[in-house]
Amino acid sequence: MKCSICNNKAVYEAKYSGSFLCKKHFIEFVEKRVKREIREQMALRGREITISVGISGGKDSSVTLYLLNKILSERRNVKIKAFTVDEGIEGYRSTGIEKAEKLCKALNIEHETISFKENYGYTMDRIMKIDKKTISCSHCGPMRRQLMNKISLYDSADYVVLGINQDDYAQSILMNVVKGDISRYIRMAPHDYIREGLVPRILPLRKIPEKEVVLYAILNNIDYDSSWCPYYNMAQRNTFRDIVDKLENETPGSKYAIIKFFDETRKPLKDYYKNDDIKLNKCKTCGAPTPENVCEVCRDIGELKKIEAKL
Ligand SMILES: [Zn+2]
Ligand SMILES: [Zn+2]
Repeated sequence: MKCSICNNKAVYEAKYSGSFLCKKHFIEFVEKRVKREIREQMALRGREITISVGISGGKDSSVTLYLLNKILSERRNVKIKAFTVDEGIEGYRSTGIEKAEKLCKALNIEHETISFKENYGYTMDRIMKIDKKTISCSHCGPMRRQLMNKISLYDSADYVVLGINQDDYAQSILMNVVKGDISRYIRMAPHDYIREGLVPRILPLRKIPEKEVVLYAILNNIDYDSSWCPYYNMAQRNTFRDIVDKLENETPGSKYAIIKFFDETRKPLKDYYKNDDIKLNKCKTCGAPTPENVCEVCRDIGELKKIEAKL
């Protein structure tokens, strides 16, 4: 097939818009949407800005860092840093860190690592040996989010940027809808407001379908780690992945429409549920921001210690 714009050989068919794109026009098409998201999600004018990018070494975060660097490198007031959270998963995380470091070096971006072991005293491997009942992501998610915030605060970052693609994002929106969790729906990233102690999370790829992220990485020779976490077990998310994919197959553009609906409903909902837990406390144990008195990570570690003592 030929590119709908220039007649060169097409490398991609965007079913949702009915167009075919050559390499050049595909890359432009991705970058145009990411530029718009960057513009809409962050205020980058008139002051020194530090952006902290969470990079796992996987396709989404690698493409995010590559694009952010490409789009923002000419702005002198913007400094980009990158970090990787090391959960302590033997044989998996080390490959990701290697790819992350390699990319940062190629782009001349400062990279650091922050680990579960140093901050919590446990690796994920150890946690999985202690607690055989809970799914890994219930421990890992809150810990990872907390460390991302911690390192971003430490770096005095104005924003923390994550590689979440359109598929992930549409699934998360629907998950919150199906759970009836309006509070979480309102608080989803991208954040356009500041909650004390929390660095706003930004998602430049949230409108780029997963397969376009993969193709973009390939066309730009971005080397990424494609392995899956050995503990990955998110039965619930897989259900939503299937539903969203089915909707997209039957009606191309559904993923985009879910996000559009979210964008248009979030603001009025936020206004209606005024100051919905905007205020946060400091965890009595570790000082991290939390709506409770003790944060969910400290509570989780307390539970793990109890189970461990019985082993
Ligand atoms: Zn073209
Ligand atoms: Zn805590």
